[in-house]
Amino acid sequence: MFYGTQYYRSPTPLEGEWEQDLSHMGEYGLNTIQLRINWRNNERSEDHYDFSDLDKLFELAEKYNKQVVIKFLLECAPQYIFDKYEGTRIGPYGEKIRGGYHGAFYGGWLPCFSNPQIQLRAKKFVQEVVKRYKDRKNLILYNAWNEIRNRPIEECFCKYCKKSYHDYLRNKFHKIDNLNKFYGASEESFETIDLPSTPHGVWDIYEFKKFKGEDGNYQKVKLVYDAIKELDDKHPVMCHVGYTSGYQMDISDVCNDFKVCKAVDFWGTSLPFDHHMDTVNNRLDLQLVNDFIRSVDDHYFVHELYPSLGMFRLYDDEFDMEYKIFKSLSRGTKGICFWQYRSERVGHEMDCSGLMHMNGEPRKVIKPVSVASAFIEEYDEWLYSFKALPGDIAIIHDFDSMLLSEIEDNFGPDFKWGLWNPLLYYFKAHQGLYRLINRNNYSVDYLSTYKMDNLNQYKLVFAPDLSMLRPETAEKLEQYVEKGGVLVIDDGFGLRDQNTWVNPYNIKTKMFDGWLEFRLREHRDVIYKNNSYKFGPYTSIFRIKNSKVTAKFDNKEPAIQQVTYGKGKVIILGFSLGYDAYDNINDGQRLILDDIAASCKIQKKRYQDIENGIEENRLYNKYEQMLFLFNTSNKPQEIEIKEHIIHSCYKGTLKENRLSIKPKSIAVLRIK
Ligand SMILES: [Zn+2]
Repeated sequence: MFYGTQYYRSPTPLEGEWEQDLSHMGEYGLNTIQLRINWRNNERSEDHYDFSDLDKLFELAEKYNKQVVIKFLLECAPQYIFDKYEGTRIGPYGEKIRGGYHGAFYGGWLPCFSNPQIQLRAKKFVQEVVKRYKDRKNLILYNAWNEIRNRPIEECFCKYCKKSYHDYLRNKFHKIDNLNKFYGASEESFETIDLPSTPHGVWDIYEFKKFKGEDGNYQKVKLVYDAIKELDDKHPVMCHVGYTSGYQMDISDVCNDFKVCKAVDFWGTSLPFDHHMDTVNNRLDLQLVNDFIRSVDDHYFVHELYPSLGMFRLYDDEFDMEYKIFKSLSRGTKGICFWQYRSERVGHEMDCSGLMHMNGEPRKVIKPVSVASAFIEEYDEWLYSFKALPGDIAIIHDFDSMLLSEIEDNFGPDFKWGLWNPLLYYFKAHQGLYRLINRNNYSVDYLSTYKMDNLNQYKLVFAPDLSMLRPETAEKLEQYVEKGGVLVIDDGFGLRDQNTWVNPYNIKTKMFDGWLEFRLREHRDVIYKNNSYKFGPYTSIFRIKNSKVTAKFDNKEPAIQQVTYGKGKVIILGFSLGYDAYDNINDGQRLILDDIAASCKIQKKRYQDIENGIEENRLYNKYEQMLFLFNTSNKPQEIEIKEHIIHSCYKGTLKENRLSIKPKSIAVLRIK
C-alpha cells in the first residue's frame, strides 16, 4: 500500500521549512512524499537545468527515510517554449491561448504538445530528470501527468493539431467520401475539415472531442511514459485524472479514462471533494468516484485526497478525514496521496488544503491520518491483495453516450458555446441511479462499455441513457440476457445511430422487436401499484412487440414493460429511473427498484442502513473478508454480526457477536 503526501511544488514549502517538515512527517505515519516537478522552474532558459531544489529534497528525504514520487508538471512550460518554438495553443479565432505559471494547476494554459518541437523539448526535460534521479534508492514511482484533461471546448487547432486531427479522421474513414456519406457531411477533403464552430451539427464536435479527449490525451501521457521508460524500466509510471469519466459533466473538460489509461502502468484519480461528508449524497459521491475508477483499473490510486477546504474556510473535521481514508480503503484503493502537506500560500489556491497549516503546525485532521497509517501498516498485505467484493448490480457507463448528452447541453443560441438550460442528463441519470441503489442498501458496481468482461457475474444490470449503442455493446448485452441476465434499459436507449443521428424508429438489438414512437421533454405520472409518481425529464413511449406491460403512464401508455430473451429478460422503462433521484429520492423510485431487485432475488446488504447512518463495504479474498462498517450518525449503533468473526481490526467494541460503534466512527472486522 502506498500512503503519502504531496510535498513540494515550487516555490512552497520554502527551503527553510523542508528539514523541519521531513523530520516530523514520520510521527504521522507519512513515509512517502511527492515532488511535483515544474518544467518552468527547473529549466528557466533553454538547456539550463537547475535541479538544486530537488537534489536537496531528495537528500533530506533519504536522511529522514522517506520514499519519493516524481510527478511531472509539463503544463507549466518555460516561456521560451511559447516564444521561441511557437508552443502557444491556437484558439478557434486564430487567437493565442497564452501560457504561464503561478504555482498551482493552470496558471496559464499549457503549450501544444502536438507541436514536434515541444515534444522534443518536453522529452529532453523529462529525461534530464530521469537520468538524475532514477538510481536514487528512495525513488519509487513516477506520475506522468497531473489531472490529464482536455479543455477548453475547442482546444488547440494549430497547424500540428489540425494535421493530427485530419490524420485521425483519415485513419478512421480512409476516404473523404466515406466520411461524407457516414455523417451526411459535405467536406472537400480531410485536409480542409475545420474546427466545429457550434455544437449544433453534433457529429463534428463529437468527433473532435473524441479525438482530443481520447487520442490527444493518450499521446501526451505516452510521450512522458516513453521518455521515462527509455532510460528507466525499473520504476512504475502512473497517471491520474482530475475527474473520472464518471464525474465529468461538461464537454469543456473531458478525458476518456478507459482509452488514456492504456498509456501508463496504472491509473488514479483525484478525489474532488473539498466539502463536508455530512449528507448521504456527499458521502456517496466520494464512494462513486472510488467505484468508478476501480472499473478503469482495480489497482487504482486515490492520488489527491483533500484534508481541508482552502480559501480560509474552516474545515478541520477528524471524522470526515477518517471517513475519506477508510471509504477509499474499503473500495479497494491501492494507494492514498494527500493533497498536500502544508496549506498553499501561492496563487489562487490560497490556504488549500494542508494536513498542516501554512506555518507547519498540525491541524486536527492529522490525527486520523496517523491512526489510519497504523492500521494500513498492520493490514498492509490484506489491503493490497484483497479486492472489493463485487456488487450484485452493475450500472453501465458509456463515454460516447455521455459525450452526446454533454453536446446537447450546449444547444444554445447559434454560434455560441456554453451550457444552455443544461439537463445534465447523462450525468444525473447514472449518478442518480447510483445514489438510489445505494440508498436502497444494495451493492452496486460500475461497468464501462469498454470493459464488460465481468458482465455475467451480475444478477441485474442497468443501462441508463445508453443512446449510442455500438454494435459490440449490443452484442455483449444480448449475450448477457440470453444466458439469464436481467437488463434494465430506460429512456434514451439506442436513440442515436452510429453517425450520431437520431433514429428512434429502429432500435438495433436482437433482444426485442420495437421502436420509440415518441419522446417528449416533460415529466409525467407513472401509475405504479395504485399510486402515481412523477418521472422525467423525458417521457418515452416504446412500442415493443410481445411485451408484458407492468405499469402505465397517466395517459394509459406503457411506462414499464418487459420481454424475455433467451433465459433472461429485458425491462424497458419509458423514463429515467435515476435522473430525478439525483436530487430527490422518492417512494416511487424506491418501490420500482425494490421490485426489480426482488424479481432477481437480490438481497440488500446485510448491515447497511444508510438513511440511519450505517454504511457497509467489504474487501475479500478466497478465504475471508474485511468488513468495513461506518457509523456516520450522531448516535451509538449496535449491530448483530451474523458471520464468523476472526477478530476486530479497527475500533468498535465486540461483545460476542454484538458490535458497538460510537457516534461518527468506523469499525473493521475480519470475518469468514
Ligand atoms: Zn496545437
